[in-house]
Amino acid sequence: MSAPAARGRVLPTLNEDGSRNWIRPKPSPGPWWARRRVVAYLLMIFFIGLPHVQIGGKPAILLDVPRRQFTILGTTFLPTDTLLLMLLLASVIIAIFLFSALFGRVWCGWACPQTVYLEFLYRPIERLFEGGRSGSLVMDRKGQHFHPRRLAKYLVYLAISLLLAHTFLAYFVGVETLERWVQLSPAQHPTPFLVMAVTTALIFTDFTWFREQTCLIACPYGRWQSVLLDQQSLVVAYDYNRGEPRTRSREQADGAGDCIDCGACVTTCPTGIDIRNGLQMECVHCTQCMDACDTIMDKVERPRGLIRYSSGDALAGKPQHRLRPRVVIYPLALVLFLGAFVVTLRTRASADITVLRSQAEPFRVEADGRVANQVRIRIGNRGSQTEEYQIVVVGAEAGTVIAPENPLRVDRDALRTTSIFVLLPPSAFSAGLRPVTIRITTANGFASETPFNLLGPVAPSPESP
Ligand code: SF4
Ligand code: SF4
Repeated sequence: MSAPAARGRVLPTLNEDGSRNWIRPKPSPGPWWARRRVVAYLLMIFFIGLPHVQIGGKPAILLDVPRRQFTILGTTFLPTDTLLLMLLLASVIIAIFLFSALFGRVWCGWACPQTVYLEFLYRPIERLFEGGRSGSLVMDRKGQHFHPRRLAKYLVYLAISLLLAHTFLAYFVGVETLERWVQLSPAQHPTPFLVMAVTTALIFTDFTWFREQTCLIACPYGRWQSVLLDQQSLVVAYDYNRGEPRTRSREQADGAGDCIDCGACVTTCPTGIDIRNGLQMECVHCTQCMDACDTIMDKVERPRGLIRYSSGDALAGKPQHRLRPRVVIYPLALVLFLGAFVVTLRTRASADITVLRSQAEPFRVEADGRVANQVRIRIGNRGSQTEEYQIVVVGAEAGTVIAPENPLRVDRDALRTTSIFVLLPPSAFSAGLRPVTIRITTANGFASETPFNLLGPVAPSPESP
């Protein structure tokens, strides 16, 4: 049995027959739009410029996923820095919680790359090529898909998507690697070329076709807002006390609200919602409806701000509480996690040493009777230059230590693993164990001592048959 058809529109971006309702928001120039445009262009410069910035000879940001090394603000986190990364991630999440509790979805409307590029780059280009109200010239007419102006728009979109894809990849591979890739033929490096092509295609599809669906379907932040916001959070809101009951008449009837039901706030909304229905998951707090409504209020000579930044409690006429549990608990947690991060970062050694046992057999008895232990040593160099690490096994002087590379040379921000072999006579072991210390030093004063138990045969007890 088929499910009953939904009655009426269930989503602003869905027609009643289930087809896509293309949102073509009408531009609403106004003071908020002007402010957002300045912020957007500065952010575009920031997003594109950041991978080129160096701090202390390192990139300001480089997320080297294959090597699991993350450089953030000139500090490199190696795969062994799990605690630091966990503290940093927890701090970022708490900061998002705090920011949302105080300022609502300001990030979505003002700073998210999805909003910034769509509203201030791709849509203006669309209006430039297709005219008027975001595509009314071509997109609204049937059979115009291959109109030369639309094809020209796609070409410009493709060029911008290529630029953004290269910028995006620079965050993960670094600008030097990217410049090298760009100068090579795709046949010489097919995998990076494929990554770049797929990234370009994703960006092109997102801004050409998927658009507001990214905010409504793909991004989890809108769904989080139900728990992140409270009645005191700053939100873009319609003042229903002032606006209702609505009337379409310009002459305000007795008892009528200020809303003249013109629909300007709906036609300008990039997610197609009606802000008058209250706070909705689809609202990205872009302020376009504020500008649209203020223009209408000017025309009907009513005060501006029928739609404005406010809070649920302020609109309901309830007192504002600046101090509420979440704006106390979140900062305290943030100070705790951020403080732990800073202390851990500042007190960490200039090298990270891990001593591991052989992955295969615990020990081997050689033909001459000596007991051989394989010891794996992993060194992560967090210093500012390449270092040579001298390895000494204290307590194995009676035997032989074979180290293929000693001292071990490790580049800055690199991680290397070496194996050494310690050969000792069976008499050196007591109950199958020989405690030693792995001492690692550099000429620059680094020193580390790690206790380690070598393994050997357990001598048969005198009572054994
Ligand atoms: S309701 Fe207003 S603030 Fe929310 S997304 Fe639509 S235009 Fe932007
Ligand atoms: S723009 Fe203002 S006046 Fe027009 S429908 Fe929206 S809230 Fe009412």
